[in-house]
Amino acid sequence: MTRVFDDDRRTAFGTTAIHAGEREDPLAGAIMPPVYLTSTYVQQGLGENKGYEYARGKNPTREALERTIAALEGAQHGFAFASGMGCLDSIMKLFKSGDHIVCGANVYGGTFRLFDKLLQHMGLTFSYVDTTDVQRIEDACTPHTRAILVETPTNPLMQITDLQAAADVAHAHNALLIVDNTFATPFFQQPFSLGADIVFHSATKFLNGHSDVICGVATVIDDDLAAKLQFIHNAAGAVAGPFDSWLVLRGMKTLHLRMPAHDRNGRAVAAYLAGHLGDERVRYPGLESHPQHSLACMQMRGMGGMVTVDVGTKALANQVLKKVRIFSLAESLGGVESLISHPASMTHASVEPERRAALGITEGMVRLSCGVEDTSDLLQDVEQAFAGL
Ligand SMILES: *Cc1c(COP(=O)(O)O)cnc(C)c1O
Repeated sequence: MTRVFDDDRRTAFGTTAIHAGEREDPLAGAIMPPVYLTSTYVQQGLGENKGYEYARGKNPTREALERTIAALEGAQHGFAFASGMGCLDSIMKLFKSGDHIVCGANVYGGTFRLFDKLLQHMGLTFSYVDTTDVQRIEDACTPHTRAILVETPTNPLMQITDLQAAADVAHAHNALLIVDNTFATPFFQQPFSLGADIVFHSATKFLNGHSDVICGVATVIDDDLAAKLQFIHNAAGAVAGPFDSWLVLRGMKTLHLRMPAHDRNGRAVAAYLAGHLGDERVRYPGLESHPQHSLACMQMRGMGGMVTVDVGTKALANQVLKKVRIFSLAESLGGVESLISHPASMTHASVEPERRAALGITEGMVRLSCGVEDTSDLLQDVEQAFAGL
């Protein structure tokens, strides 16, 4: 078993989060990297410049973010994009018509939409499988398989995929393991130490953590893969803007303080709801009743603040959504403020009803993103909102 958190980072997580992006500011000594609001850079002569030519290619503020997320994931290279979906779309440009990708069945709704409604028509082929069962990943691989894409824990079913086993299958087929690490963040899960080849995020969520930006990041260790992504980043141009990059950089400086608070609140809310409604209605990898609790304990250092509850019917779900006072009804997750949503009609509305039903995403499911408010207040809110169920 790989010891996930033993690596050779020079500093521990929090110090890295705060300092990895730093570079000396020769003009004023600013402690935070300036927001470089510029499209171009003055050149000294033909072929002579300071390493910056045009801001689609490179921007110093964006680079600070890219260095930080790479360091936190234990990677060598980071790339920041305009959104999580823009990031994934650019990653997929590594592949070409005829290539086959094995994808988790319960990935983010927008990921499925990108593959099913757009990329499929450009000649990529996809198989969607329950990646909690590694044999199914293996069985789905063909001679054309170039990548396996997994999300763990998944949204909203909170299923766990064994990353080390998935990486072994990918590598046996000469394919890449691509991991969407949005839910766990590098603070709780380090996919590269388990064999992943590309780790990406919707930085919109926990990395930024303050619900005020849309952004995506990808990280890789391999230099050749990095060169290809660098080319795509500049050629396709879905790059993160300097101000967005600065906001995410600022947000990430407190990732190691926020994640334990999300985890504490997630555990408390999940435990309360499991006691109130029954274990079988609550999905949270930190509960012993979760079918993959022991895998989660091995692979993750914490379980986070995402909790999914099935209250039975859409009407009862709506009743809860209307009663909450601190949790707000909204899409998205991972911010300091607690949110609650209805996956079937919100994040997974783009998945056809039959497919949702087959996956197990029911009309009675509500998904809670526990923020970092005081636990007692969140518990009180949950108690009154779920009372009488
Ligand atoms: C939100 C989300 C995405 C998409 O990211 P955007 O920043 O909204 O484009 C991808 N994967 C997961 C797991 C997400 O939660």
